Amino acid sequence: AAKQRNDGAVAYDAAMDKSSAKSLSLLTELRNAIERNEFRLHVQPKIRLDTGEVVGVESLVRWAHPERGNVFPDEFIPFAEQTGFIRVLTRWVLDQSGALCSQLQRQGIHLKISVNLSTRDLLDQDLPAKFRDILTRHQLAAGSFCLEITESAIMDDPVRAQQTLERLHAMGVDLSIDDFGTGYSSLAYLKRLPVDELKIDKSFVLNMENDIGDTKIVRSTIDLGHNMGLRVVAEGIESEAVWRLLAALGCDQGQGYFMSRPIAADKLVGWIAAWTP
Ligand code: C2E
Ligand code: CA
Ligand code: CA
Ligand code: CA
Repeated sequence: AAKQRNDGAVAYDAAMDKSSAKSLSLLTELRNAIERNEFRLHVQPKIRLDTGEVVGVESLVRWAHPERGNVFPDEFIPFAEQTGFIRVLTRWVLDQSGALCSQLQRQGIHLKISVNLSTRDLLDQDLPAKFRDILTRHQLAAGSFCLEITESAIMDDPVRAQQTLERLHAMGVDLSIDDFGTGYSSLAYLKRLPVDELKIDKSFVLNMENDIGDTKIVRSTIDLGHNMGLRVVAEGIESEAVWRLLAALGCDQGQGYFMSRPIAADKLVGWIAAWTP
C-alpha cells in the first residue's frame, strides 16, 4: 500500500464516492494497461501555415482496450489525473515521443515533438529529472520537445508550477500554453512564465470563417502572442478556408483534421512522404 501512495494514488475514502470500487478497478486496469502495452502513441502533424511545411507533431495517447477497443483520452485522462496515475502515463508518453523523435532524426526528419502535461505533472518535483533521463536515453536535445500546459493546470498551484516550468525551460525545452482563452485566463501568467508558444483553442477556430466573433478573438490572440514574442498555433483546422484565414491573420502554425487526424506513430513517415501542402 505504501508503494501505491508513492505513485501518487489517493488513499481510499469510503465516504468520498459511492463508486469507489469501480474507480479502484479502473485504476487497476490502467496499471495493467501499462504493463500489457495497451497504450498507443498517436501523433498529429503541426504545419507552418505560410509554407505548409511539417514542423512538428503533438503526441496524443490512445488506449487499445482488449474489450472496449480504442479508448480516447477524455475517458481516462481526468481519472488518471485524479489518482496520480498520470505521472506514470506522462513518463510513458515522453519516452515513446523521445523514441519516435530520435528514430525520425536518424532518417533525416527533424520535428519538434509536443507532449501534454497535466496539473499533477507540474506539481511533481521530479519531473525535470525524469525529463533529463528521457533526453539522455534517446540522445536528444531538450529543444526537440515542446511541453503543452493548460492555464487551469498552472492556476492550481501557480508558485510551484512556475518553479517546475522555470527548471524545465532552463534545460532548453519549449513551453506552450494549450487551450488558450478557455481557462481562468490570467494574462499576468503570460508575462511571468517562460512561455514560447500560445495555442488557440479549437472552440474559437472550428467555425471561425462563419463567426465574426470567433475571428475577432483569434485575430486578437495572434496579435497578443506576437506582441509578446510568442509563436502562435491554432488547433482544430477542419477546412481550407480556415487555414487561409488563419494564414492571412499571420498565425504561425496549425493542426487539424483538414491536414490530418491524429495517426499511429508508425504511420507518420508515410504520411509525411505523401503530404503535399
Ligand atoms: P488537446 O491537448 O487540446 O488536444 C487536441 C485535441 O483536439 C485532440 O483530441 C485532437 O484529436 C483534437 N483535434 C485535433 N484536430 C482537430 C480538428 O480539426 N477538429 C476537432 N474537432 N478536433 C481536433 P484527443 O486526442 O481526443 O485528446 C483530447 C485531450 O486529451 C487533449 O486535448 C489533451 O488534453 C488530453 N490528452 C491527450 N493525450 C494526452 C497525454 O498524453 N497526456 C495528457 N496529460 N493529456 C492528454
Ligand atoms: Ca495539447
Ligand atoms: Ca488544445
Ligand atoms: Ca483541449
